[in-house]
This record gives sequence, structure tokens and C-alpha cells, in this order.
Amino acid sequence: MGIIFDIERFAIHDGPGIRTTLFLKGCPLSCWWCHNPESISPRPQLALFEEKCIGCGRCFDACPHGVHEKLADGSRALHRERCEACSRCVQTCYAEALVMEGREISVTHAVEELRRDAPFYETSGGGITLSGGEPLRQVEFTTGVLQACKAEGFHTALDTCGYAPWTDYEKVLPFVDLVLYDFKLADSEAHVKYTGVPNELIRENLARIDARGLPIEIRIPVIPGINDGRENIEQTGQILAGMKHVRRVTLLPYHGLGETKYPRVGKTYRLNGLASPTREHMAEIAGWMQRLGLVAEAR
Ligand code: SF4
Ligand code: SF4
Repeated sequence: MGIIFDIERFAIHDGPGIRTTLFLKGCPLSCWWCHNPESISPRPQLALFEEKCIGCGRCFDACPHGVHEKLADGSRALHRERCEACSRCVQTCYAEALVMEGREISVTHAVEELRRDAPFYETSGGGITLSGGEPLRQVEFTTGVLQACKAEGFHTALDTCGYAPWTDYEKVLPFVDLVLYDFKLADSEAHVKYTGVPNELIRENLARIDARGLPIEIRIPVIPGINDGRENIEQTGQILAGMKHVRRVTLLPYHGLGETKYPRVGKTYRLNGLASPTREHMAEIAGWMQRLGLVAEAR
């Protein structure tokens, strides 16, 4: 069994062709710019869309653990730490202000969902992608899905942050055709500051995957003021240029679209008001990478 929070069909940015992407919950990183804050916890979690709430009060009575508390002034206190994700309150909320982010799914059921789009994979040269979160946080489920998809003849891609034990990569890589590898910062101290973990393991795993000869596509989120300076980009480029099987570097411009999701799951966003990098700056960064011999493009 695994816990997923989304299935995206007709995805065109998660590997070649038309793909179906399965998003798994659980991530060891907590990047400041993460646009899927609901992906970080490995468990299903309650989301509250305040703007949809009509104040009917049904959820206050439905919860057996007193998670929803009505305060004297009529507002709500949400005691998330008591929530056991039973979904009772979600089922009573006709306004759909309460949503359970994440659901359990078996390998068999997940593969059935992915098989539905097989005709599109065949006609477009596409396939399936496992993303997250970090798929290796659920390594047994991920291995099961990838193995079954290979048996179906699907092209498989793994989208990974790189921060997992190598023994986990050894389990899944026999069933992976393409690795989509995130790389954020060359300096490990800065990596700790902005993602919560150092980058040595990420660099080691990248080198080991490269040594296996698997095709790798690097994805770099470009965050103004954090990793878009020339020094970091050139250091990153030098690391990547040392790999034999990195066939492309895709630069993803920061956007703040995830900002509104944070309060829904009880989290605080740390980059409020940060503007996206300009097209000119993205092109400049791609140029810095290209000068190091990399195939780099800004999306
Ligand atoms: S059940 Fe839904 S609409 Fe009613 S008070 Fe609770 S969250 Fe608001
Ligand atoms: S999901 Fe269950 S435990 Fe959590 S708030 Fe709703 S009713 Fe309470």
C-alpha cells in the first residue's frame, strides 16, 4: 500500500511524451519555495479552505477528537495535532471546505489507474512518472508500481530529490528508464538553510546513478535571491558537467502559486511576495550553464 495525493493525467513536463504522474506523499526536504506543502507529511492530512466555509458547524459535532473548536467569538481553533485523519468531518462538510489530502492506494489499484492512459503512452512515446513528495519515502510501494509498470511495457520515470539511502535507489532503479533529478544548491550550508538537509548525499547519489548509465534529466527550481546567482549556478554547472549521462538541465522559474496552500494545511509560507525571475534572467542562467557544455533550457 502507498499514500498518494494526486494523479495527473496528460502531463507533458514529467518526461517524454504524454504521461500520467502519480504524486506520493512524504518528503525529507522542506524547501522554502515548495508549491506542494501537502506533499511533505507522509500521512493523509486535513486541509481547510476557509473561503468555502459557510459556518454550518457540522464539523464541530462530527469530530470525536475535538479537533474543531468553536471559540467564544465564533471563530475556529483547529487542533491539528489531535487529528487522526478519519475523514468524518470531511464527509459532513457539504460546502467542501474540508478536504483530506492524501489517500491510501494499493499497488494493484495504482497500476490500474496508470493503465487507463496506456493508449496515450503508446501514441506519444510517453509513459508513467512517479513524483511527490519523494517517491523513495515509500520505497516498497514505489518499487512495486515501477516493477508492474515495466512488466506492462510502459516507459517509467522517477522524479527524485536525491535524498534517500542508496540502498533504496538500488531497489527501484532496475525498473526506471529515466531519472528526473532535482538539484537546488551547490553549497551544502545554504542547502541546509533552504531545504532542511545537506546536499552531500544528493551529490553522491547523483554520481552513483550516473555511474549506472541511466539517462538523467536535472531540474533546478530558480529562486531569486537564493540560488539564481552566477556563483551558485556555475558551481552547480560544474558538478553536473562532470556527469556522463546528464542529458538535459531544465530551469524552472519560481512562482508563488503554492502560497495559498500553506494555511490550508497549517503551515507558514516563507517567501511571501517574492517575484518570479524575469525571462531575461532565466535565459542568462541557461547561458551560464551552456558555457559549461550542458544542454540547458529555461521553461
Ligand atoms: S462543516 Fe464545513 S462548512 Fe460547516 S462549519 Fe465545518 S468547515 Fe465550515
Ligand atoms: S479527520 Fe477525523 S479526527 Fe481529523 S478533524 Fe476530521 S473528524 Fe476529527
